[in-house]
Order: sequence, then C-alpha cells, then structure tokens
Amino acid sequence: MILSPGATIGILGGGQLGRMLALAAARLGLQCHVYSPPDADSCAFQVVQASTRAAYEDRTALAAFAASVDAVTYEFENVPADTAAFLAERRPVLPQPSVLAKTQDRLVEKKFVAGLKIATAPFAPVGSAAELTAAVGMIGKPSVLKTRRLGYDGKGQKIVGPADDPVAAWAALRHAPCILEGFVPFAREISVVAARSQDGQVECFELAENEHRDHILKVSRVPAEVSDEVAARARQIAETIAHAFDYVGVLAVEMFVVREADRDAVLVNEIAPRVHNSGHWTLDACSVSQFEQHMRAVAGWPLVKPIRHGRAEMINLIGTEVDDYAKWLKVPGTAIHLYGKREARPGRKMGHVTRVLA
Ligand code: AMP
Repeated sequence: MILSPGATIGILGGGQLGRMLALAAARLGLQCHVYSPPDADSCAFQVVQASTRAAYEDRTALAAFAASVDAVTYEFENVPADTAAFLAERRPVLPQPSVLAKTQDRLVEKKFVAGLKIATAPFAPVGSAAELTAAVGMIGKPSVLKTRRLGYDGKGQKIVGPADDPVAAWAALRHAPCILEGFVPFAREISVVAARSQDGQVECFELAENEHRDHILKVSRVPAEVSDEVAARARQIAETIAHAFDYVGVLAVEMFVVREADRDAVLVNEIAPRVHNSGHWTLDACSVSQFEQHMRAVAGWPLVKPIRHGRAEMINLIGTEVDDYAKWLKVPGTAIHLYGKREARPGRKMGHVTRVLA
C-alpha cells in the first residue's frame, strides 16, 4: 500500500507522540485523524482537522474512524487487541497488530527477544506463590518485580533488595501476573530508535544515552558514549528485532550496557513499538525526525538516511518544570516544544527542549 500526499492517516492515541506524528505528517502533505478516549487530555486534537473522542471499545465510532482514513497507526502500545483487530479488518494497521500482542506483555516480549538469541536480564514468570518462590530461587536478589502488563515510567515495578520480602513486593503489586528480573548493575542506559519500511529497509538513528529521574526519562544525550563495538551491536539488535516482527514504522529498543571484564555487554530491557521519547532530539538535531520516518513508513514511502547536525541533548520538562519555559526561550541553540497539555500534574511530560551543542 502506497499513500499519496493528501491521504489521511488515523492515529490511535492523542498524547504528545500523536501530536508530533501529526505535525510531521502535515509537513509531508498528509492529513491525520486522531482517535482518543473521552477521559484523556488529548493535546494532539489541537493540531489536526479531524478527531474522534470515543472509547476504544466503541465499535460504531471505530467503524466511522476506519471509513475516514486510508491507514491506521498508533502512538502507544496498549491499544486493546480487539480494537486493533477490528480496525485491521477495515484498513491497514501499521505496525501490524501482531506486534502489539508481543509487546504488551513483558513475559511474551522477553521470551521473544531471548528466542532471537539476544541477551536480556535473567527472568522468570510470577503467577502464583509457588512461582514467586521458584523465581527468587533461580534469580536471587537484588531483583526487580514487574507487572507483565501496563507498566510504564516505573509504575508497576518493585525492586526486591537483599533484605526485602518478595511476598510483600508481590502483594504491593496486587498479585498481578508479573515477571521477576535480575537487577542489572548497568553502566549506562541506551536506546536505539529504528525505522523499517514496508519493503524491509531499516534506518537507525544514532544511539541515545538516557538518564532517568524518579523512573521517568529526564535527559537523552546523543551520541551515546559507547564503543563502536557496542554501538554496532545495539543497532544490530534493533535491526534483528525489526525484521523479526516484519515491522513497519518506528520502534525503540531500550538497552542496558554492562561493564564486563573483557568487553561491554548489551542487554535488552524493553521494546517500544512506537516513536519514543529518547528520539525527540531528532526533531531539531537531525536531517529527518523519528516522526517523519514513521509516517514515511506507514505511507509506504522510502526512508531516508538520517544525518545528525551536532551533539544533542534532549531535556524533558516534567510537571511544573514547564513553568520555566521562558528561561529556555533565551538559551542559544535551544529548541523548545510545549505539548499544550492543560494540567501540569507531577510526573507528567509537559514539553521538552533540545540543545544542539556543536
Ligand atoms: P522499564 O519500565 O522496564 O523500562 O524500567 C524503567 C527503568 O527501571 C529502567 O529504565 C531502568 O532504569 C530501571 N530498571 C528496569 N529493569 C531493571 C533491571 N532489571 N535492572 C536494573 N534496573 C532496571
């Protein structure tokens, strides 16, 4: 399927990622129709001509949405499976819904990655008291207990330290189905944002090095300070995953770099089947952004090789940090992005700035 300028792409989800996707589409002469639930503060609605405010279970609204677009994509990975399947019967959904099934569940995702002979932290399922005991026996402490579904920005996670009781940790997660992972004493956290086209072309952006605060991404620096060997391995991992999914669009792979005696090891932490916060720097410090690359792929267009303009640093404006926006307006070499969200709740991503350093 190849779309022409003037075609309409439907976006499921109306947050800042949907907003930035729609802005990139507009530059390419493509239209967007954003579909987002009534309870969300959908800042993407502000930049598109067509929007639907309806539940993901509302079949009448979904059918009308499908009829109004040429293809469907999404800005977040927790699109309900039934919603994606319903839409896929009517219009191409890219990345294809089978990717969602593999990335919505941490256990399924980790098994998929391990099946590709890519290293991860050791992991084991926790669905019962007996499995919890067995998992702690196998993985030991410290470890990290994570809900299999719906975790993000550190939500749905408990570190099980050497003195902690795993039973209490699981109770704190309300006995949701979980996985227990070995705690990785990483030297760095990095991510690869990669795009794959409908005919299998892959283009990776340069590696970002990510710094979290309170489990939320605070700063991404590009390029990451890793050896050429680590960079090549990380790209190869992202490429292998993209091909294995027969992926179309942009995906991000979050990884840990672990210092070992003879060489650094790269372990996969998580796959995000969408544009990613650690790729926002590409809007201002690269010849093509992750958002444009995604829309090119969805439209069936070729990808373009990204060329970075300089060293870049992306800083998230979280919660009331956005109130300082005026300070950033004066910093040389800085671009500011404000998402137009109504309420600056703690932990909420309200905007970001990119500094091009050289
Ligand atoms: P996640 O939701 O899996 O992306 O985890 C959020 C953050 O928690 C990561 O970016 C890491 O900083 C930390 N984290 C997650 N899993 C582990 C692990 N197995 N070992 C050490 N730190 C972890």
